[in-house]
Amino acid sequence: MTLWLITDVDVEFDSLRFDQGFFSKNKSLNKAIRRHNPGLIEGVPKLLEFFNKYDINATFHIQEQEDPAFSVLFNHPKVYDLVEDYNQEISLHVHMKEADYCSRKKEISAGFDRQKKQGYKVSSFRAGSYFINENTVKVLEELGVDYDCSPIKNFVVGSMRFYDIPDSPYHPNYADVTRIGNAEVLIIPVTNSRLGIAIHEDNDFELELMKKGVQALYSASEKIEQPVIIYFTTHSWKLFNPNGSEREWEARRRRGFFRFLKDHDVTSLSVCEAGSLWKEKGYESYFLDLPDLVGSYRSIYNPLRHFRLVKHVLSRIYTLKYRLLGEP
Ligand SMILES: [Zn+2]
Repeated sequence: MTLWLITDVDVEFDSLRFDQGFFSKNKSLNKAIRRHNPGLIEGVPKLLEFFNKYDINATFHIQEQEDPAFSVLFNHPKVYDLVEDYNQEISLHVHMKEADYCSRKKEISAGFDRQKKQGYKVSSFRAGSYFINENTVKVLEELGVDYDCSPIKNFVVGSMRFYDIPDSPYHPNYADVTRIGNAEVLIIPVTNSRLGIAIHEDNDFELELMKKGVQALYSASEKIEQPVIIYFTTHSWKLFNPNGSEREWEARRRRGFFRFLKDHDVTSLSVCEAGSLWKEKGYESYFLDLPDLVGSYRSIYNPLRHFRLVKHVLSRIYTLKYRLLGEP
């Protein structure tokens, strides 16, 4: 029985919380948004201090786009220095809506090369909006990036449905990254979404849900040889409200969760540490039968409560639109 804890942060321009700004054609809006980045400027040091206190090895997926206006390295190089000072892992985070190979190659390479030029040789990647596809895997392999942590289990984005992916790290199929295959890249998916191991809202039941989620993974780990992963993922802007004030409830919830984990026998690993250990030991991928804890908290009239309806009907309707009309 082994439990691993992977903790990571998407370090990005605060405007990404609205999924605009980066995509906005409005130059003055972009300018205003770029000036105001409490998540990047104050959130990152706070998280680093927090992880240090709780002895957590964390991974920071830092946003780099081809457009230098949305390069953290270009605008806030101190973020990189700080992450290095605290001895945490630096990774690449790139947002893009285009799904085709050429666009992905251009945008991901631009970010990768910029980091490399400054001496950061990253081995891991997280796609913006978790939107990975087969072209992403090809590009990552060409760049020599070993680990991807983009897919979220039981989630749809664009034309991609991530309902049937393993509950463990896996090498994807080149033609369909949601299936196991022979790709070199190791995907380490975020598999906790229906367990509720995430901080979303100012609701007191959230911490109880997070604890229940950990217990579900703990029970699952008793039945298998391979490590079971508790995945905690967050964003640098989550520490603040959109108006820039601090989110006291977010800090309280985060403290509560990591204090709870301290009493459990879990090994905290960065993405690359977990990935290389997984490969070194030659573990086999697996599927778990996990409860739908998030759904059970919703009202019976909320379609999201009904997992099978979401998985087999709603998610297919959602992705069909993209399959027919192309990505947005
Ligand atoms: Zn992002």
